[in-house]
Amino acid sequence: MENILTTKQKISLIAIGVLLLLNVVAWQRVFILVESHYLKVDFLDVGQGDSIFIETPSLRHILIDGGPGNAVLGQLGKHLPLGQKSLDMIILTHPDSDHLNGLLQVIEKYKVDYIVWTGIVRGGSQYQLWLRLLEKARESGSKIIIAKLGSKIKNGQVAMDIINPLTSVYGQDFRPKNNDNDTGIVLHLTYGKNTFLFTADISSIIESKLLEIKANLASDVLKIAHHGSKYSSLKGFLQAVNPRLAVISVGAHNTYGHPTPIVLQRLQDLNITTLRTDQNGTVEILSDGQNLKVSKEKTQNN
Ligand SMILES: [Zn+2]
Repeated sequence: MENILTTKQKISLIAIGVLLLLNVVAWQRVFILVESHYLKVDFLDVGQGDSIFIETPSLRHILIDGGPGNAVLGQLGKHLPLGQKSLDMIILTHPDSDHLNGLLQVIEKYKVDYIVWTGIVRGGSQYQLWLRLLEKARESGSKIIIAKLGSKIKNGQVAMDIINPLTSVYGQDFRPKNNDNDTGIVLHLTYGKNTFLFTADISSIIESKLLEIKANLASDVLKIAHHGSKYSSLKGFLQAVNPRLAVISVGAHNTYGHPTPIVLQRLQDLNITTLRTDQNGTVEILSDGQNLKVSKEKTQNN
């Protein structure tokens, strides 16, 4: 009798254990579901250049630019689900080395469904390699999309409007000076009530034109154009965007003097909180469509 009771007790203990385990599994599932309501935007710390990683609430992955070298590969390893070797979309804003070079490595190592760029002509061996890799990607099933004003990239409730280039630049030749900054793809992202503006390296010339045509600029988060160059970030432009947070993607001790004191001062005068990838590391922003949660890898140490 004693033995039977003991066995029963054992069985009920095991049953409780199984229930507890099921509970944990259920919790994990609930947690994943809750987490997937977030849009995640990471301004990756890749040195002197731009690279922005976006995870939509339905777990689509978009990379805007790849920075100047292979740092982006380590960053993707950290930010993509374990073992994932594919991206839904990459966007090359313009083929300058600090935006392009990292993407060359990404396109070689990751399967990419959609590749968006402007199709301009530029000099340099990296640009030639980009063309070859594009062709290879196309042959293995990637779709190449030429960015056009007014086009929209949509996934569920996340939408990105292309608001620059303002005219078609496809096939336009920028050699020998390669001054293609103003052809950069500018994207205005909306998720619920939250908005982001990604400005590539556009100068004040394009900023003025965007103001002139009353483009939809107002955004919670602004990626400062051209790493904080003094030729961008007009006061009127910053006022029109009116961001709660500005992010400057920039490398420590870069030779360009980015970000420039004049732009930092303008941001300060307008009381715009500013984070920098050289001081804060990767800046991550989570949005539930209503609120933003900002986290940074490092606290400023100077
Ligand atoms: Zn740049």
